[in-house]
Amino acid sequence: MNKLTKLPFLFIPVLLLLLLFAGVSVAQSGENELLRIIAFGAHPDDCEINAGGVAAMWAAQGHAFRCVSLTNGDIGHFGMSGGELALRRMQEVEAAAEILGISTRVFDIHDGELMPTLENRKEVAREIRNWQADIVMVHRRYDYHADHRYSGVLVDDAIILVEAKFFTPDTPPLPRSPVVLYYDDRFQRPLPFVPDIVVSIDDVVDQKRAALEQMPSQFSDKDSWTYGRAENVPEDEETRLRLRIDALMNRNVSIADRFRTNLVELYGEEAGNSIQYAEAFQLSEFGRQVTVDELMQLFPGFD
Ligand SMILES: [Zn+2]
Repeated sequence: MNKLTKLPFLFIPVLLLLLLFAGVSVAQSGENELLRIIAFGAHPDDCEINAGGVAAMWAAQGHAFRCVSLTNGDIGHFGMSGGELALRRMQEVEAAAEILGISTRVFDIHDGELMPTLENRKEVAREIRNWQADIVMVHRRYDYHADHRYSGVLVDDAIILVEAKFFTPDTPPLPRSPVVLYYDDRFQRPLPFVPDIVVSIDDVVDQKRAALEQMPSQFSDKDSWTYGRAENVPEDEETRLRLRIDALMNRNVSIADRFRTNLVELYGEEAGNSIQYAEAFQLSEFGRQVTVDELMQLFPGFD
């Protein structure tokens, strides 16, 4: 056998191996594509309160979820403030992140002083790029708290720029715009929140509760508990913490009840009606546009 006739015998096994690897990688990227989600909140607890359930569910499936607080939370307490409180807040969100299985970051901007500046727009764009985000979450810009409002404005303003390679050229641009989703809120003017996706968090209620329990500076301090006004404040810290977290989890019950029609549409009659706790999100018009079916494929817990 001369050299030329031997060649097909060498090529065929190599070709088969290449086809095998190509087939495996196509199957993996199609069915098990791992997502990268970044959720901004104004304060160190907003992301956990609004998306802690879906964060735990995504993380359990191996997706990468990051909570970012745009301020350090250094004034929202009646007994302490400044650097001491900022450090305490950071330790608390880190403990919560460990329970949820996610990553976390706190920006060193004073609580109550977040502004929609060009500098902050660049920082938010860099953060979204560095995380290589497929999905971005944030407050709507219609909210009682200026820090919440400006968090929404900063993300809204940064989104169009994360693909623009000459904006903050020190950080490489994203290849495509992320999907942007807003947290649920109850404000009616000028526009009420209208959910595009409502997700059952029944399977991770205990995990979300446990994460929120890591934040006593937010929920169990006696002076802050009722903003120093209410009577009959429970004496022991454990009771105060439990009652505040009950109230927070009741928000998830209220979301499930308010958006029951959406749950039935998304999960079917029987499952939709039996869901107790939910988190809801509205698609922003400024990020990548997707259908409800595509959202269901992105979120955990849908068949
Ligand atoms: Zn807040």
